[in-house]
Order: sequence, then structure tokens, then C-alpha cells
Amino acid sequence: MKAAAFFGKKDIRIVDVGIPEIKEDGVLIKTKVCGICGSDMHVYNSDLLTEDSTKVIDDYRIIGHEFTGEIVEAGKKVTGFKTGDRVASVHNKGGMAEYVEIPGDRLKNLFKIPDSTSFETAATLEPFCNPMHSFHMREPQDSDTVAIFGAGIIGLGYLQIVKANTKARTIIIDISRLRLETAGRIGADVVINAKEEDPLKKIKKLTGDHYVRYQKNSAGGCDISIDCAGIPKTFLQCLEVLKPENGTAIIASIFENEISLDANTIVFKYMSITGSMGYYPSETAEALDLIVNRKVDRDILITHRLPLDKAAEGFRVQGDSGKSVKVMIVV
Ligand SMILES: [Zn+2]
Repeated sequence: MKAAAFFGKKDIRIVDVGIPEIKEDGVLIKTKVCGICGSDMHVYNSDLLTEDSTKVIDDYRIIGHEFTGEIVEAGKKVTGFKTGDRVASVHNKGGMAEYVEIPGDRLKNLFKIPDSTSFETAATLEPFCNPMHSFHMREPQDSDTVAIFGAGIIGLGYLQIVKANTKARTIIIDISRLRLETAGRIGADVVINAKEEDPLKKIKKLTGDHYVRYQKNSAGGCDISIDCAGIPKTFLQCLEVLKPENGTAIIASIFENEISLDANTIVFKYMSITGSMGYYPSETAEALDLIVNRKVDRDILITHRLPLDKAAEGFRVQGDSGKSVKVMIVV
């Protein structure tokens, strides 16, 4: 079967590997659609997370974990799934291949999708679970202001969840016009292009500019900030836009560089900084419910569809935030 393998930085190639065999407690999925994840981009750009994000088949590192497909074979000990079931997979790896084998102990990561939800739409499930988890780290109140740094698939998903569940005011910051336009369509209250204006100045103007004792930087007035961009600058901005006391910064991205910061800002603003990575099965169910019941429009995030043969091009396009939000590989 054909599969997209990672060979090294910026080097994705199509390889021919054997169709995996299932055990009697596992299933075989004929893959339909696989999204390119932010974590796949870390593999692609810097060889970060390579072991975590790829599955070794025939000595190749097959990439992709945000996939949907149809079960074409089920072992005789399998209960709960049968041939013909349409499923979305989370956590499982090796999705950018024509077939994926799921062993029995990982069937808990498969979720059935109804006929009314397309394979493509359902392939946005996995990157919707992460922001669901972030949302629950500190749920915004209706009166809260939330600043979202980064309007990629995670930041926009978080925005969709906040919008679907609360009346909180949302401010989203990015440098991609396309992504900010998408944020506007989702209903962000304020969009800031950090290429055109200083997000700190703008946010302080909108939410308040507060003195913080012993600190050279003032504080904004946001109750919650979330870093979905993963660069030192946005991390520090996340801390600065928080109100003078008891704000929460949710750090939901992977950083390729270290950060230097004045730790006193954490102390004098009594802030909470919480990391957000992964999600619980209940959060996957909650994310799937929003998708299949059309409480959110995940399709507006899909900007490109490319066949498996063009996976390398898919990674290049996904890396260009000015041109893409979500690239799907159609297998
Ligand atoms: Zn992912």
C-alpha cells in the first residue's frame, strides 16, 4: 500500500509498504481522509516529536494521526465495531496510508461517525479535542474576556468552543489575513493582525491598561489568554494581557525555542499558567457531538484537499499560514 513517510527535515516521500495484518482483537481501516496536524509540522520542520507522531512500518516512519475511514476487516474477538463502520480515529498513528491497523487495546480511540457527517469533516475531530481540553482547564464565564494567540486549527477550534458554550468576549491575534478572516466568520469579537498593529497596545486599549506593582510592564484586562502559536513572543504576550490579578494563561502549543521571562510577573499578578496537551475520552465525545450536530462549522477550516501522492506538497502548503488553515490528505 502507499503511505507518506518522514525521511528527515522537510522530506516527506510516498513509499510502498505491506498492508498491515490485524490480530483477532483488532480492526483494519481503509483510510479516507487524514489531516496534517501542527505536531506533524513539528516533525516536518525540526524533527521534534518524531517518535511520538509516526508509526514505524517496514522501517519507514509513517506520519499522520488525524484520520477517518471505513472498517474493512474486524477480528473475530472484536465487539463494538464491524465491517462497514465509518470511524474517526484519535491518538492512533500511521494515518497517511491506504490502510491502518488498530490493535484491540487502541479501539477505545475509534469513534463511530454517522452517515450525515463526511469523512472530511470528521477528520477535524482530533485537533478539536485539544482545544476542548483547554476550554475545560478554565471555562470562561459570560462576562470574561479571552485572548487567543494563534488562529490556526487549535486557536480557531478553541474560538468555536468558546462561542458555542459561552458569551465571553473573544479577541484573536495572528499574522495571517486568511486565518483572521476565518476567525471573523466564526464570530470572534475582535481580530488583531499583529503584523499591522501591536496586539499588546490594542488589547490594553480595549480591556484596560493596569499598573502592576514592581513591574515595568502594565497589565491588560483579559481573564484568560491562550497560546496556540508557540513562539516566545506570544507566550510573553499571553502573560502580559492578563488582568492584574488571578488571570489564567493556558499554554496549548509546542515550542521550538526556549523562553526567557521575568518570573516576578507571575508572582505579582497572582496568575495561573497551565499547560494543555492531550484530552480525555469524554472530551472527544463532546467535540464529536459539536461536529455531528453541526453546532460548529468545521468545514470552513479546511482550505486544501490533496491526494496522498501529493502529501509532500500538502506539508509545504500547511506550513504557509498565509495560504492555509487546514490541509487534508485524501487517501
Ligand atoms: Zn493532531
